[in-house]
Amino acid sequence: VKAAVLRAPGQLCVEEVPKPQARPGEVLVNVKASAICGTDVGVYKGNEPARLPIIQGHESTGEVVETGEGVTSLKPGDRVVLASIIFCRQCSYCQSGKTNLCPNGGLLGREVNGSFADYVAVPDYNAIKMPDSISYEDGTHLVALSTVYVAQEKITITPGQSVAVIGQGTTGLMHSRLAVLSGAMPVYAVDITGWKLKIAEQYGAIPVNATQTNPVEHIKEVTDGEGVDLAIEAAGSAVTLRQAMEVVKPGGTVLCFGILRPSIDDFNGYAIYFKELKLIGSRSVTHRGFQLGIRLLENGKLNGDPLITHRFPLDQVKSALDLVAQKPGEVLRAIVNH
Ligand SMILES: [Zn+2]
Ligand SMILES: [Zn+2]
Repeated sequence: VKAAVLRAPGQLCVEEVPKPQARPGEVLVNVKASAICGTDVGVYKGNEPARLPIIQGHESTGEVVETGEGVTSLKPGDRVVLASIIFCRQCSYCQSGKTNLCPNGGLLGREVNGSFADYVAVPDYNAIKMPDSISYEDGTHLVALSTVYVAQEKITITPGQSVAVIGQGTTGLMHSRLAVLSGAMPVYAVDITGWKLKIAEQYGAIPVNATQTNPVEHIKEVTDGEGVDLAIEAAGSAVTLRQAMEVVKPGGTVLCFGILRPSIDDFNGYAIYFKELKLIGSRSVTHRGFQLGIRLLENGKLNGDPLITHRFPLDQVKSALDLVAQKPGEVLRAIVNH
């Protein structure tokens, strides 16, 4: 059977590997579709520590083909989305439902073998049943959508509140859509790429093109100089975090969703004091996020079609990773069909 094995940074090869087996408590999944996300690119480029060699991939859907000893929750033929993180179910975080913070956990395709493969064996709790109405391709959105849910559950969006979402990549667009669905108005969607802003508009947000206007000044101007109640940083740079802190009104909340890698040496925290800002962080996925995401897709409240911009066969997963790494302005979801 085939799998995309990363042996060293940049050295990814689709090769023949032994077919994995479902050990006790595990299910074997025939992978149908996978999405490529920034974390996969980070592992591929060596920017993110990983256990090599490893089979990459963590945002996938598929069909259960075999169940290991003791598995009762799933049976062959079940359509599932893979919850991308493993966790221990023993520690205080896991026991309080914060499985995303488990210190004994790991990510598929980074610490344990992932899903850019014909087959992957995962613990039964990692395979979440999906209704027939959600296609395998659309189901891959659930991993990203779960991260967005986990983040928005940490804040309160009251109908009529104003929101700015800085960055309209896949998760930024999902943040815009969820804010609209929660009754926020207006929701300003900020990005530098016109066609992504068109999707934000379809999702009910007001596009703000940061190449044509200073987004902070513009949003302040159209909110009578006040700024917004809530700013969501979804681009992961120091510049956009600064914009989020500037565009939010005193007493407001900044949801720090984007992953900030570089240190911010000239960081000025004065606004946190002066404006009494609340800065909220959020990481990874929980099962609850998947359940809510499934409900959203099932009811057609999020149209995932515009998010899929590219499709590749498993053999060409390297080209897909290179595309996402090199041309982020041209791609949202690159889907690998197995
Ligand atoms: Zn991901
Ligand atoms: Zn744990």
